[in-house]
Parts: sequence; structure tokens; C-alpha cells
Amino acid sequence: MRSSTSAGLLVVGGGPAGHAAARSYRESGGDGRVLVVSQDAYPPYARPPLTKEHLRGETASDELALSGPDFYTDHRIELTLRRTVTAIHRDRDRATMHGGETVDFRSCVVATGSRPVSLPVPGAHDPRVLEVRSLDDGIALRQAAESAGSAVVIGSGFIGCEAAASLCARGVTTTLITMERAPQRARLGDEVAARIAGWLDDAGVRLVTSATVRSIVEARTVCTSAGAYSGDMVLLATGVAPDNALAAAGRIACADGRVLADSRMRTSRANVLAAGDVALATNHAAGRRLAVEHWGDAVRMGEVAGANAAGVQDRWAQAPGFWSGIGDRVLKYAAWGDGYDAVLLSDHGEGAFTAWYGAGGRVVGVLTHRHDPDYERGRTLVESGADWSDVAAA
Ligand SMILES: Cc1cc2nc3c(=O)[nH]c(=O)nc-3n(C[C@H](O)[C@H](O)[C@H](O)COP(=O)(O)OP(=O)(O)OC[C@H]3O[C@@H](n4cnc5c(N)ncnc54)[C@H](O)[C@@H]3O)c2cc1C
Repeated sequence: MRSSTSAGLLVVGGGPAGHAAARSYRESGGDGRVLVVSQDAYPPYARPPLTKEHLRGETASDELALSGPDFYTDHRIELTLRRTVTAIHRDRDRATMHGGETVDFRSCVVATGSRPVSLPVPGAHDPRVLEVRSLDDGIALRQAAESAGSAVVIGSGFIGCEAAASLCARGVTTTLITMERAPQRARLGDEVAARIAGWLDDAGVRLVTSATVRSIVEARTVCTSAGAYSGDMVLLATGVAPDNALAAAGRIACADGRVLADSRMRTSRANVLAAGDVALATNHAAGRRLAVEHWGDAVRMGEVAGANAAGVQDRWAQAPGFWSGIGDRVLKYAAWGDGYDAVLLSDHGEGAFTAWYGAGGRVVGVLTHRHDPDYERGRTLVESGADWSDVAAA
């Protein structure tokens, strides 16, 4: 017979958003049973080091856990790992897990995150082609790097740039292939892209730009419009797509592949909330919905969702952003992230710089390298919708 259970809070997903939602529910006074169901094989862990310290061999896999076992006991949070929630019922507050077990919930947080996107070319789905999202992916990547003399990384988003620099730091001769004219050009503009290209060069990465991948042969040779490049390992870092299938099938309103949520993370269903990469939530300070795929925002959205599930009003109002480590260079970025029409770059000497982003006469973003005062000030200017003249005149 199929079993059934019940929970005050059911959290679907064991990433930073799910972990924060469960913690925040408890810390906000939520007293129901808390059940976190995750497809992952491990309790919630940090993903950012997988392309940085973990890949370089500086951090062990068991150092990545977000919390130790005591945390779950103390907070009375039950973790169910290696399980998939297969359905959120359309007409009642019930979810079904793989195997048929059902969970009746008082509130549910959908925190299903994102999945890597592959390339629609022959050979890209070969299981020997690496990708990096989960800890198991990160372990496989590191193991491959231990015996590889050379690598090809495809994609110049932050994950591709970080991984390429880390592979070089391990002594692996690495080629980074990108469709862009320079890494992150579309997102950050020409001047910042040129600096990132310079950092990759300093790290020893061979950069191949404006190249379209046509096929991957034997998980070793990447054939592109600009020639063929071979390595002992190939890593695909070609972006992610939010995983909203569960919510959409449960008739929770979605748009652009994400779950619609207000600034309190409430979805179209009264007691279902969404948080993290999968959410297309209203940022209160921005006054509009934003799609973000950043660690800190997943945590913050999870906190907001957990608090609201416990009956405490909270809302998402911080400027989204992230830090990225490319070799020994750190970038700090805070921005609405949905476009700009002006960029102003200022140098502070010895390689430190700030890039300001503006749109419609307002400050909409800041990116800094080794200049924390501008990063802190920039966050405030973005969140307050400061006039572009505030930075243009400085
Ligand atoms: C290698 C790497 C490096 C990164 N570096 C940075 C960085 O430096 N800075 C930064 O800001 N961001 C970084 N990110 C992005 C950041 O990790 C994500 O934005 C963040 O993990 C999103 O959190 P989330 O909780 O929404 O989703 P995820 O972390 O994707 O977690 C989703 C969870 O849901 C589970 N799940 C999905 N569907 C189901 C289901 N039906 N049933 C049960 N469980 C399910 C998954 O197994 C997973 O546990 C990095 C990401 C990666 C992969």
C-alpha cells in the first residue's frame, strides 16, 4: 500500500533556497513538521566552490555542507535525499513523491532551481562530456582534472571562466571556447569583457572567441566554426534553465520558464511559495519582476518564503548580485540585471576598477574589482534608484 504523511512545510529542493526556507520558517516561529525533499545525494551544500577552491583541490567535498547534522536536529528539519517530488496536486494541498508516497502540506516552497543546458550539436550528450551543477558533477570534474593534461571548456559565463582559470591553476592546459567576441560582453559591456579576457590570458587560458560549436567528437575534440580543439576532457558550461516543470504541471502560474511570485514569494496558489533560480519574483525595491541565478538571492528568497510560510511578513528588496573568482581575481556585482544603456568605468590604480551601469537616467548596477567602497555605495545607489548623475559626476 502506498504511504502518506503530512507536513506543516514541505520544501521541494535541497539547494540554498530550500535550505534557507526551512531554516527561516523555524526561526520565524513556524511550528509544523518541516520536510525537505531533494533529488540530491547530499545534504544542502555550497555550489560556488565547485568551479573554484574545490576544483583547484583546496577544499574537500565534505567541507561544502551548508550545515552540520546538529543543525537539522536542532531546527527539527527532516531531510529526504535522493527523492523526487513528482507532482503537486492541482486541486488539493498534496504532493506525490517518486514511489507514490504522498505528503499533505499546510505550506509548500518550490525551490527546484536550475539545470545545465546542453548544446544541440552531435556529441554534446555523450556522458563523458562533463558539466557542473551538482556535487557529484564537481567530484567527477575534479577527478578528470587530476589525470588530464589538457581540457576544453565551452562557454564564457562565470562558470566557464572560473573553471578554465582553476583548471590552468592545476596545471591543465586549457582552451576556452565562446560564441561571444569577449567573455561576458553582452552582460557586462566591452571594457569589462576585455579585462576578463586579460585575466584569463594571465591565468594561462587560451581563449577562442566568436566560435560556434558544431560537434564534439569522442568527448575530446570540439569542432567549431573557428577550427577544432582537443583536450583530455571537455566541460560544457553553456548556461542553465530553471526547472519549473513541477510547478507548471501543478497549475501554478509561470512565465518565461519560471514560477511567478510576488515580493513575499507567494505564487498564484495561496499556500505555495517559490524561491531561488526557479522564481520570477517581484523585487520590492526594483518594483518589477527579476530573473536571477545567484547564490545570495536564492538564500534571501528562501528566507522570505520561509518567514511568510510561518506567518511573518518579509519581502525581497535587496539588489541582486554575486561575487565571482576568476583565478585570484574577484569581481563583485550588484545590479537589477535586466539591461543598461550606459556604462562608466573608473580605474582606481593597480588594476582595481569600478564599472557603473545606468538605464533611463538611473543607476542600475555596479561591478567592482578590489574596490569595496564603490561596491557598498553602489548597492545603495541601485536599491534607491539613484540618479545617473550621482555617479557620472563623481
Ligand atoms: C558550479 C557553480 C558555481 C556557482 N558559482 C556561483 C557564484 O560564485 N556566485 C553566485 O551568486 N552563484 C553561483 N552559482 C549559482 C548558484 O549556485 C545558484 O544560483 C543557486 O544554487 C540557486 O539555488 P536554488 O536553491 O534556487 O537551486 P539549486 O541550487 O539548483 O537547487 C535545487 C535543488 O532542487 C532539487 N530538485 C529539483 N527538482 C526537484 C524535485 N522535483 N524533487 C526534489 N528535488 C528537486 C535539486 O536536486 C537541488 O537540490 C554557481 C552555480 C554553480 C553550479
